[in-house]
Amino acid sequence: MATEADILKALEGLYGPGGAPLAGAVSGVNLSGAKAFVSLAGDPSQTQAWEAARVAAERAIKAAPGVEQAVVTLTAERASRPEAPQPRAQAQAQGHAHAQAHAHGAGAPPPQQKGGIPALEKIRFIVAVASGKGGVGKSTTSANLALGLAAQGWRVGLLDADVYGPSMPRLFGLTDKPKVEGGKLAPLEAYGVKIMSMGFLVDENVPMVWRGPMVSQAISQMLGEVAWGELDALVIDMPPGTGDVQLTIAQQVPLAGAVIVSTPQDLALIDARRAVSMFQKVEAPILGVIENMSYFLCPHCGGRSEIFAHGGARHDAEQMGVPFLGEAPLDIKIRQTSDAGTPVVGAEPDSPQAAVYLNLAAKVKTLLETQKQRAAPKIVVG
Ligand code: ADP
Repeated sequence: MATEADILKALEGLYGPGGAPLAGAVSGVNLSGAKAFVSLAGDPSQTQAWEAARVAAERAIKAAPGVEQAVVTLTAERASRPEAPQPRAQAQAQGHAHAQAHAHGAGAPPPQQKGGIPALEKIRFIVAVASGKGGVGKSTTSANLALGLAAQGWRVGLLDADVYGPSMPRLFGLTDKPKVEGGKLAPLEAYGVKIMSMGFLVDENVPMVWRGPMVSQAISQMLGEVAWGELDALVIDMPPGTGDVQLTIAQQVPLAGAVIVSTPQDLALIDARRAVSMFQKVEAPILGVIENMSYFLCPHCGGRSEIFAHGGARHDAEQMGVPFLGEAPLDIKIRQTSDAGTPVVGAEPDSPQAAVYLNLAAKVKTLLETQKQRAAPKIVVG
């Protein structure tokens, strides 16, 4: 079996775009059996040049003794780029991908390889959880929905596709590196749910920003390289927003449906509308909208306060002609359990907070089971 030193040795004689040895850019090595997962930290402003370096590194590592397969991904440090905080960097990344797409003569990203992804073939229903913008509780909802589906006897996977800011390591308190089994990454497990996150593959202390092409590639790997096995449902925590990266996932994955998470505020709702239309564009069924932080549950008196204009999501869902699945309260236990790595449905399944998600999960399950057929991925042109 190859060692980390073998990997670094394989990179000898290769140089990054800046002329520095490529071995010095290695930010993570994950080895198991004959498969090597390696990440390289590169300058996001030199995406094209780094892509060439990535390909060269992959070829060199694959040729190293004891290695049969190599997967090299690109990461970029964000901490050292204070002028480019995450949302802006993300917008730029999407802008870049967009510019590329236009260079290809289409309004959407270059068409991805069509056809089934073998790693996803034994999954009955794939559900995307999306939001028009970050911070609305999409990841919290994804995690508790996945746990809620598992609580009803389903075999469930949870894929953290939010490569800009993976949340599942924190939400489930998971720090282990996934093992490689049979040439594929074995998901980690918590409360009986199989979980995979880009956050497991890279050092958690290295904050990253992923550029458009890098993100697409990283996501393709996350979709194609994970040993999910047989599942009733795979919940995908989508990256926030509705840019090209999100569209790419929606196109590549045979989605059984999408759940849109929104807060009651108008702005979030405008964004949520964009998310709805993105899935409509790729003809993925919208299972419904969830209004998160819909009302405040006082931990002292149990009273309910409607801090924001409550009910906006229900009204909007009706206007858009998509189902309204329900609402989750702004609740301290939901936040505390999420931040403690013990999401409420897993840790306190009998609590009223868990009941909210169990109820939502039951609705999602029924909608999936009663849907006639699963949507095939569609390529959108123009
Ligand atoms: P997103 O994935 O949309 O960026 P997160 O799920 O990471 O959002 O949630 C953002 C923050 O809000 C987290 O600290 C989370 O614990 C908290 N949060 C999410 N939903 C709720 C809720 N219903 N009640 C209280 N806190 C919540």
